[in-house]
Amino acid sequence: MMAAFLPTLVKASYFLAALLFILGLKRMSSPRTARGGIVWAGAGMLVATLATFFLPGMHNLPLIAAAIALGTLAAWISGKRVAMTAMPQMVALYNGMGGGSAAAIGAGELLKFGAGEAASTTQLVLGVVGALIGAVSFSGSLIAFAKLQGWMDRRFVFAGQRFVNALVFLAALAAGAALVAGRLEVGVVIAFFALALAFGVMMTLPIGGADMPVVISMYNAFTGLAVAFEGFVLQNEAMIIAGMVVGAAGTLLTQLMAKAMNRSLANVLFGNFGAARGEAQAITGAQKPVEAADAAVMMAYAERVAIVPGYGMAVAQAQHKIWEFARLLIERGVKVRFAIHPVAGRMPGHMNVLLAEAGVPYDLIADMDDINPEFPATDVALVIGANDVVNPVAKTDPTSPIYGMPILDVASAKNVIVIKRGKGTGFAGIENALFYADNTRMLYGDGQAAAAELVAALKALDGGH
Ligand code: NDP
Repeated sequence: MMAAFLPTLVKASYFLAALLFILGLKRMSSPRTARGGIVWAGAGMLVATLATFFLPGMHNLPLIAAAIALGTLAAWISGKRVAMTAMPQMVALYNGMGGGSAAAIGAGELLKFGAGEAASTTQLVLGVVGALIGAVSFSGSLIAFAKLQGWMDRRFVFAGQRFVNALVFLAALAAGAALVAGRLEVGVVIAFFALALAFGVMMTLPIGGADMPVVISMYNAFTGLAVAFEGFVLQNEAMIIAGMVVGAAGTLLTQLMAKAMNRSLANVLFGNFGAARGEAQAITGAQKPVEAADAAVMMAYAERVAIVPGYGMAVAQAQHKIWEFARLLIERGVKVRFAIHPVAGRMPGHMNVLLAEAGVPYDLIADMDDINPEFPATDVALVIGANDVVNPVAKTDPTSPIYGMPILDVASAKNVIVIKRGKGTGFAGIENALFYADNTRMLYGDGQAAAAELVAALKALDGGH
């Protein structure tokens, strides 16, 4: 009796899971509710996973349970240990696993179809396309991981590369077409996957520098699509819905990030970012240092201060100290705002997460488009560990690899104070004209130490009143 209801129960659970995914995603759209959103979506995944065990005809249950236990353990440990600054490569790795799983499902199904199991043409086509996309996402994400982890040279280019890549892609398509045409032999399946995996590697090798996050986001969309396609093959609603949600979200994020860097996706994939486009314009002037005490006085008597965090704040974990400093300024009546560039740091929302962790209220945090018009009326822009996202050459030097990327218009503030350790370049590896500008002063030091010095200087100032 119960057995008859099971399929309906499983489907109802999948529906619940889908609702949880969508509501979770909705909650992720604001930092206030994002943490809860993750929990909701995670609960959805748990419901879907548990329900799957009750699908009719499931076998190898202990093997599946063991695989889930192993995966959970590995993800739990790595998730707990990973440093905030290593999050992008972590996302690349996890995403690659998703793509690999979709490809593995495709491989299993294709082999089953080859062994005589009935399949419709739609199932065959979607199985092959899903496997292709999943395999590309798997091997491509692993290369992205290795690059961001610093295990690999950032870019690998050779003459005729695009032609060779196109050939490999066409060969993978041909093998896929052979499978769809009914040549479901083991040899063809292996050749198809080898070519698809090779293409993922070769497509990612020439991409480097600041484009990697866009690529990871694109592979994320790929993984979603691959999972959805394989969901069609298995006729599994949870996979279709979850895959589509990931695919759509990944596509939107890819577009947003490409826009924030002012690059088209084609340019990201084939543009060879960072390759010399000619002689960079010379930057004149010298970097002029400032002491923390002087910088603190400048800000203490300012009317408006904009704080611009970047990757260096994350490295230094300076968010708590800088918020303490901002609070002291606010107590003195200074109008303080935090200015966030969409690709500051090393992942979308990186700075928002850190500032939220430190307890900065959301109404003090401004997006680039909102705050840029305010910089000319800002007395002091305090840049902490940001570099590329405030580099004016993005507007002035057409040969620069970041030319055209929208930037925070810090240079137009009346005074600029930049906290960084020395003359290190940012992610794009280029000089920053802002650091040499007449109205810029450099406060050298580790982000956290420098912010602590500013706090101490401000307190000393107050004590002296
Ligand atoms: P950048 O990487 O351009 O610059 C960071 C700066 O921080 C460096 O110049 C470094 O200078 C300084 N720094 C490093 N460690 C410390 C420390 N402990 N204390 C103080 N300063 C420190 O950062 P931005 O945030 O300005 O720009 C982000 C870049 O990363 C962009 O090019 C973006 O395209 C790219 N990117 C963005 C991703 C995203 O999704 N957000 C993902 C991947 C890349 P010094 O060594 O002198 O201290």
